[in-house]
Amino acid sequence: MVVKNKDAGNCNLCGVCNLTCPVYKVLQKESAGPRFKAFLTKKQEYKEVFFLCTQCTACVQSCPARINIEHLSIRAEMTKKGFETPANKIMRENIKHYGNPFGEIKKGRKIKQYYT
Ligand code: SF4
Ligand code: SF4
Repeated sequence: MVVKNKDAGNCNLCGVCNLTCPVYKVLQKESAGPRFKAFLTKKQEYKEVFFLCTQCTACVQSCPARINIEHLSIRAEMTKKGFETPANKIMRENIKHYGNPFGEIKKGRKIKQYYT
């Protein structure tokens, strides 16, 4: 699978991006952080870890080389080839059937309940 990323080759593995990534902050694993994903992107190796991203772009903003891992393009390409996480599949189905990523909204149920 090939996703062109002109930036990834400039990654020097400094790790600044990891310090700003919310996913890395929660999971505290090198394998979940943007530095590892930049490393994988450079080698054009695509794994489930690319689905662990909120799209916040904090890694791009903090990177001295402004490297954008382009998670969305990678995910789209992985999904097209049949490599996606079960959660991503459920989310896609929910959007297709109910118009939102959470699924059926039962009558009387308040949106607020999703956040409490
Ligand atoms: S992506 Fe940028 S901030 Fe992250 S390790 Fe590479 S050069 Fe450093
Ligand atoms: S865009 Fe994704 S990888 Fe980058 S900081 Fe945000 S959650 Fe982490």
